[in-house]
Amino acid sequence: MLLLLEACHVKLPLSLCSTDLNGCATINTERFRKLIITNHIVIPIAEHGIAVQQLCPHATEVVRRLQEEGYEAYIVGGSVRDLLLGKVPKDYDVATDAVPEEVKTVFPRCRLIGRRFRLAHVRMSGTLIEVATFRGPQVNDDDDHKHQNGRILRDNVWGSLEEDAVRRDFTINALFLDPVSGDIQDFVGGYKDLADRKLRLIGDARTRYREDPVRLLRAARFIAKLGVEPATETKAPITEMAPLLHDIPPARLFEEVCKLFMTGHAARTWEALQRFELTRALFPILKGEGKSGKAKAGNLLIKALENTDERIAIEKPVTPAFLLAAILWQPVRARADTLQSEGLNEFAALGQAADEVMSSQVQRTAIPRRFSVVTRQIWTMQPRFKNTHGRRAKSLMQERRFRAAYDFMLLRAEEDESLKALCDHWTEAQKGVTLNTGQRQFDERNKNDARRRPRRRRRPRSKTPAAK
Ligand code: ATP
Ligand code: MG
Repeated sequence: MLLLLEACHVKLPLSLCSTDLNGCATINTERFRKLIITNHIVIPIAEHGIAVQQLCPHATEVVRRLQEEGYEAYIVGGSVRDLLLGKVPKDYDVATDAVPEEVKTVFPRCRLIGRRFRLAHVRMSGTLIEVATFRGPQVNDDDDHKHQNGRILRDNVWGSLEEDAVRRDFTINALFLDPVSGDIQDFVGGYKDLADRKLRLIGDARTRYREDPVRLLRAARFIAKLGVEPATETKAPITEMAPLLHDIPPARLFEEVCKLFMTGHAARTWEALQRFELTRALFPILKGEGKSGKAKAGNLLIKALENTDERIAIEKPVTPAFLLAAILWQPVRARADTLQSEGLNEFAALGQAADEVMSSQVQRTAIPRRFSVVTRQIWTMQPRFKNTHGRRAKSLMQERRFRAAYDFMLLRAEEDESLKALCDHWTEAQKGVTLNTGQRQFDERNKNDARRRPRRRRRPRSKTPAAK
């Protein structure tokens, strides 16, 4: 691949300079050490080949309007990376030197969001474009923006384009595309890394993971999603730094869990998490081997991850509730067995085990109630499948979560052969019901409609001019 080396410079941002008693500029070396600006290259459209037509027109429009108002603006991050890899971007991010309030003056209807990381949400014809202001290095090591173990709590120090590039996580995520000129700006060697399929953290890997341990999970996600291989220095500290994830607020970790497992690469992401021993940092209640961060996972879980990917591929809906049911089933089952051996009946044991496992898990990753309620229902409906006939069977089928619980039973049969006959029974039972209830519901609806529909009043005939 031919790389155009337009400039090979290190521009010093003003924030890194101060003046001495004689008025001469001196470099604040301490802070400069934090900047790892390498070669700046510009890759023209003729080289990278991303045509304007391939871009989301709304993202292009946001950049164009900001530029027209005199600001610098680029499409950046995952969308540029994905387009270079020939993939369809999931979403578009824009970076600009306009501060959020200035973005608001250009797009008065945008929403300013975030505390840890303030940015603007610009909506255009239903498409959401995230507009973030260029970030600079943190002002001080010991200010209230940093946690004592190096974690950045707030990242709202504005900076220049170059500074924004080096504060990003991986080199392949730090490419800035100007849709107007067509050029890509690369300050960190991301273009070459992408060509080499290398995942490389920008700067010193340990410092960068410490600043934001979620980058450990992001590494696993990109390895799974993009098929890239981590550079040695990016890979080396991952396993040993996994415990840093314990400090991340549970709500943020839940968001990451959704990105890890609900974006079409769940099975491969699981493999990557296992490979780097990150799994038990997310799900500490899962059994592992000794102190290893790997979790013991059975066929049920692997199959659930594969099914999720297949559903996403054919654009069927997926819910974190079902996936969480699969991930946490093993400890729920084990705890329910113990409670049963202590004398609780199957229903009570399962209910109590579900509550215990959930309350343990939410200390690590939040689980919003709208999902945890469904997960619990999926689990606690399992023993009810044993009632194959009569009133109870009928009422089970009318439950709102019947289908999810049934799908879950099919997964359980992956690990437990003895459930196969029960699964077959319920598969057959549904065929009958869909036919009967389908017709019944149709008749019922029509009857109700007929009852409710107001009679149309006949309009008195008025003579139109033509009729006169
Ligand atoms: P995708 O959208 O496919 O999940 P992405 O790279 O676009 O991947 P986002 O979470 O949308 O991921 O983030 C957009 C960009 O913001 C990233 O490409 C990266 O440049 C930057 N970024 C996101 N999270 C971090 C982080 N924790 N540390 C540093 N930079 C980050
Ligand atoms: Mg993105």
